[in-house]
Amino acid sequence: MKPKQPNRLMRTTIFWALIVAIALVLWAVYAPQQNLKEAAFSDVIRRANNGEIAKIELRGNELLVTPMSEKDKNKPTEKSFKEEGSSIYEQGLRQDTKATIDVQKPSDTGTTLWNVASILIPILLFGAFFFFMFRQAQGQSNQALGFGKSRARLYGNEKEKVVFKDIAGNAEAKEDLVEVVDFLKHPKKFKEVGAKIPKGVLLVGPPGTGKTMLARAVAGEAGVPFFSISGSEFVEMFVGVGASRVRDLFAKAKKNAPCIIFIDEIDAVGRRRGSGMGGGHDEREQTLNQILVEMDGFETDTNVIVLAATNRSDVLDPALLRPGRFDRRVTITLPERKDREAILKVHFEKKPIDESVNVDALAGKTVGSSGADLANIANEAAIIAARHNRKHITNKDVTEAFEKVAIGPERKTKVMNEAEKELTAYHEAGHAIVGHVLPHSDPVHKVTIIPRGGTGGSTWFLPPEDRSYTSVLEFKDVLARALGGRIAEKVKYGDDNITTGAGSDLRQATAVARDMVIEQGMGQSLRDQVFHEDNGGMMFDRMVHERPYSEDTAKLIDKEVQILIKEAAHRAELVIRANPTALKRMADALLEKETIEGDEVVELFKDAKAPKEAIV
Ligand code: ADP
Repeated sequence: MKPKQPNRLMRTTIFWALIVAIALVLWAVYAPQQNLKEAAFSDVIRRANNGEIAKIELRGNELLVTPMSEKDKNKPTEKSFKEEGSSIYEQGLRQDTKATIDVQKPSDTGTTLWNVASILIPILLFGAFFFFMFRQAQGQSNQALGFGKSRARLYGNEKEKVVFKDIAGNAEAKEDLVEVVDFLKHPKKFKEVGAKIPKGVLLVGPPGTGKTMLARAVAGEAGVPFFSISGSEFVEMFVGVGASRVRDLFAKAKKNAPCIIFIDEIDAVGRRRGSGMGGGHDEREQTLNQILVEMDGFETDTNVIVLAATNRSDVLDPALLRPGRFDRRVTITLPERKDREAILKVHFEKKPIDESVNVDALAGKTVGSSGADLANIANEAAIIAARHNRKHITNKDVTEAFEKVAIGPERKTKVMNEAEKELTAYHEAGHAIVGHVLPHSDPVHKVTIIPRGGTGGSTWFLPPEDRSYTSVLEFKDVLARALGGRIAEKVKYGDDNITTGAGSDLRQATAVARDMVIEQGMGQSLRDQVFHEDNGGMMFDRMVHERPYSEDTAKLIDKEVQILIKEAAHRAELVIRANPTALKRMADALLEKETIEGDEVVELFKDAKAPKEAIV
């Protein structure tokens, strides 16, 4: 909001006027007598009796004295004070004094001013004091009152509006949203045929896939303002604040209709309401209830559409998804290769790239990356080029940026001793060889023993093309290659010399195996059945899950996971024991060069084979 200029101007004026008034009063009181020198009363009486004084002006108890020596007999040069209560004669002045005694009313201007000032100054001081106190208190109370105000940011008046054209890919989502633009632009058209305009649209998709951008583009296309707030911003420490923020947000939106309200991360407030046990969720529930109330309360002609984004639509409260609320759903998926290329092109468009940059190849490599990841890669590439003082981004910068974003920056400074280096080389060679020879594994893209992110080294597999499904055979090869590192250590150094280097591999393998059994119905004896636990509810500050299966099944699940892991370890061991020379060749190459690219891997492993028993 703009500061209120006139108000501030007035306050400043009042402030200075006060200062000037006080100064004037003080001057009026003190200035006239400033040059009068003060004489002792007894001295004045003695001199008056001796005929040395021409005139005494008497103002109450104050004496303004003009000595005989003064030329101007009406200009006093001294002052003095007599005692209160008795006359100047009673205090020793002789009746026959030569001095003219001029008795004036005691309340002349000086005294009046003094009297006025003595009343006015404290009042003014108090006034000023309260004025500033009040102003400060007002600031604080504004803050206190503002607590319940929504903190929605308003967009829509900026020059650079986002439109659908700025968003690469996401064709289906855009198609779905074109309709919403139409509702906002031509509400009449729909009302005339008795159609109810939807109030809420849920954008569901993984983080960074452009949900916020799409919502802004809807506003941009329709030319309406856009209020943006994140679900987590509603939730404060105090119960009721969230609900009052919701009220405020909707009130603002109604004033600005037609417009869009965008609630990011709606799952922060819109989670399924629990049993109420354990408490602690009143605030969220109240906020959610208020959202529901507001959405129900829209009159049919209120042209406000609420767009909400989440990546967990499964945890949302069913009440949110009922007709008349968020009854429309637009699903946004991670971009496919063609879309990734388009997104990369958008983000490289304004950056100077040289002809070596292969956007198509990068799009191929970035399986599973979101639009935000791709934007990040383009930006990192530019940063790397700038760091090397280059004017253009090269393909090498792009590759480096991709690897940095995908697995974390290289940590070249981390020093490994020779023994650790060798162990890492064998560990990575183990992953690589198992992945290379097994028929259902993705090809090896790169092997390195340069520490990156939290790992000592890494072996990277990339699918030749995007795929939507994974088979049991593919999963099993993923498990085997994940265990290849640990098994290579075991084969090379012996069972008791295995290290913690395999920690994250084992975690990954166990997670994959559990997913196969629980979520995908891929267990041996538990085929075609899923054992999905519910999303959990809060009980006394802890997340508790209700297991929809018996204790016996739980044991069976553990057994199945164990079987999968054991089988994978066995297969990896068969591969590694069958190819000692290829394994050593790779480990030596890694120790020498640190990083081996995909085509060199093929060359180094050209005589490596999977023994028949290792193939499932
Ligand atoms: P979300 O809301 O889904 O988490 P955002 O809309 O905030 O994602 O997207 C984050 C950033 O990612 C955007 O600012 C943009 O730079 C980039 N981005 C995501 N998807 C696309 C896309 N389809 N086209 C262009 N840029 C995109």
